[in-house]
Amino acid sequence: MRSSFTKKSDADIAAMIPAGELTAKALSKVREAIRPGVTTLELDAIAEDTIRSGGGVPNFQLVPGYKHTICASINDEIVHGIPSEKVLQAGDIVSIDCGAMVNGWNGDRAITVILPGGSDTQSRQRLSDVTYGSLWEGIAALYFGKRLNHVGVAIEDFVQKNSDFGILEQYVGHGIGRSMHEDPPVYNFGVRERLPKIVPGLVVAIEPMLTSGSNETFVDKDDWTVRTSDGGDGAHWEHSIAVHSKGLWVLTAEDGGESELAKFGIKAIPPKS
Ligand code: MG
Ligand code: MG
Repeated sequence: MRSSFTKKSDADIAAMIPAGELTAKALSKVREAIRPGVTTLELDAIAEDTIRSGGGVPNFQLVPGYKHTICASINDEIVHGIPSEKVLQAGDIVSIDCGAMVNGWNGDRAITVILPGGSDTQSRQRLSDVTYGSLWEGIAALYFGKRLNHVGVAIEDFVQKNSDFGILEQYVGHGIGRSMHEDPPVYNFGVRERLPKIVPGLVVAIEPMLTSGSNETFVDKDDWTVRTSDGGDGAHWEHSIAVHSKGLWVLTAEDGGESELAKFGIKAIPPKS
């Protein structure tokens, strides 16, 4: 990936709102349905129905070789898990990644859910909470930082201060717009390379992926699912965020990021065309 990127106008960013909102809606429907006893294929169908009935296209289906609307990654699976007939169990930690394309613009978001019951839920909840917290630290760095380097540093600092969890390095965030995956890459850790300046027109998906143990991973024999090498748990949270001429807007958050950004003293400002 190159580190340059195509800037979006305020009108482009305003046009991305429906895709972000539909992505949020699909994940909220999945969140309502997820429980022990359900299969990830059933969740996939819920997400697809929500996106299609909302006038969108499941953009994961546009990724060559991928047939589904969501990725569902359970326990030692961190990302890119394929929906299946496997039944979810009490205590499972499940990350759901989903995206919608509307009018040619894309949204991309991921959530992690710990199913009630089971013995491991406290440590799993903590893994998810630290991942979630690091996502918002990264989003806030789009406001306080000068370069995209600051996003990675903010995420890494937060994870290190609050845990000894691993941060995946082979998989990172990305620009988003007409394509789901665009330049620039958005690292979840500090890098030496000078990354692009944070300027109006930058629209990115920030997506920290954390592990309870070592950050070493391997790709399953299905050629998609990324698993921890040590069998530890994985968590994944993601939002698509726009930097526009008036401020920041979290496109895939129901409230544009207002409630979480307020904790950093940042006011979420909707883009206007
Ligand atoms: Mg995603
Ligand atoms: Mg993404």
